[in-house]
Amino acid sequence: DSLSSDDVKQLVREEGVNFIRLQFVDVFGKLKSVSIPAYQLDQALDNKIMFDGSSIKGFVRVEESDMYLAPDPSTYSVLPWTKEGKGKTARLICDVYNTDGTPFEGCPRNVLKNVLKKLKNYGYEYHVGPEVEFFLFETDEDGKPTTDIHDKAGYFDHAPTDLGEDARRDICLALDEMGFEIETSHHEAAPGQHEIDFRYGEALTSADRVSTFKLVVKTIAKQHGLHATFMPKPLKNAHGSCLHLNQSLYKDGKNIFECKDDPMGLSEDAYYFVGGLIKYAREYAAVTNATVNSYKRFVPGYEAPTEVTWATGSRSPLIRIPANRGPATRIELRNPDPTANHYLALAAVLSAGFEGIKNKITPSDCCNENGDNYGDEEVKKFPSSLKEALDEFESSKLMKDSLGKHIFDMYLEAKRKEWRLYSEEIHDWELKHYLKAY
Ligand code: GLU
Ligand code: MG
Ligand code: MG
Repeated sequence: DSLSSDDVKQLVREEGVNFIRLQFVDVFGKLKSVSIPAYQLDQALDNKIMFDGSSIKGFVRVEESDMYLAPDPSTYSVLPWTKEGKGKTARLICDVYNTDGTPFEGCPRNVLKNVLKKLKNYGYEYHVGPEVEFFLFETDEDGKPTTDIHDKAGYFDHAPTDLGEDARRDICLALDEMGFEIETSHHEAAPGQHEIDFRYGEALTSADRVSTFKLVVKTIAKQHGLHATFMPKPLKNAHGSCLHLNQSLYKDGKNIFECKDDPMGLSEDAYYFVGGLIKYAREYAAVTNATVNSYKRFVPGYEAPTEVTWATGSRSPLIRIPANRGPATRIELRNPDPTANHYLALAAVLSAGFEGIKNKITPSDCCNENGDNYGDEEVKKFPSSLKEALDEFESSKLMKDSLGKHIFDMYLEAKRKEWRLYSEEIHDWELKHYLKAY
């Protein structure tokens, strides 16, 4: 149930909240916030709180730096770790506005809202259930993150003496207090790797929850002396971390991906959506897999996709259709990882899937249980580096249209630079293999 501005004012009074954190994300999905004392709440809810947009990555240059925050009252939530003492803090997630009162096109939340609005014109609603994986690493004496793992457990292992288990339990409790409905929480395949799944929801809410999720995981891990990382592939010979997106479209309150008459139980629109996701996979890769490290996850043997195919059972293709039908019928996209700006990732992926529906793009044949393609069409490879993904992104009209020119340009420029800096670096691997050999 949605809160109004007045509800928020009342809650802040009743709950004795002293500070409000006005949160938003930059172009790279990083959470930013401005803190205000509770007595400035009226100002904030009137969208009168200003900040310097030029100090936020990918926003604006110095000449046009004033920006306003427009809090979304329905996102009100007390940060559980501030409950005791004088610093009780609530947060509100904001949209960013220009000085003339128009939505700022460099605000990722606005971008997702725009794409969702277009979808709504066709009568559809986009539902997303994100699955976020992460590692909990030990910190050294100075509190700096290491890549040491405190546990030796694996998938679903029950490890009662494990620091990570305690941290994960407290993370779940904090999320619960913030209104998340936790579905499962378990140890993942790699040592030190965890996953907590929360219930799917309307796309904007789910995207907001991913921001909150990351903040909560990092904060609570730190309280346990651990460092939580969403880096996709921190350890070489181990699984990486994904941000699977389980997606469905709703119309008039009904999941339209289901069709009882179809042998696979899927509707035509579901097949077309898959067709769109497959057709544009190489174009949205730079958004869903945003870093140099992202592409190191795509090696066979670790349940991460390498080929642009789809299947029902196997976990190696890009897309999997989990067995559930009825309201839970969904399409799982398996390549995204948590370095993606989740607002932009949802905007990009939805645009691709919806393009499939609009243009009736039929996907190639489904794969068999081993992930091998049935048909004889040539299977596309997912980009194997950020560079390759950026080349595809740069020439994608769909990405430019769905993200808007501002973000498209800013993103491309920044990510090209990231790639350049990485390429110029001399890595340990090179020294190890070449220094003596040549
Ligand atoms: N960790 C795997 C990946 O990198 C996914 C495991 C799973 O299916 O949950 O994609
Ligand atoms: Mg998992
Ligand atoms: Mg999954």
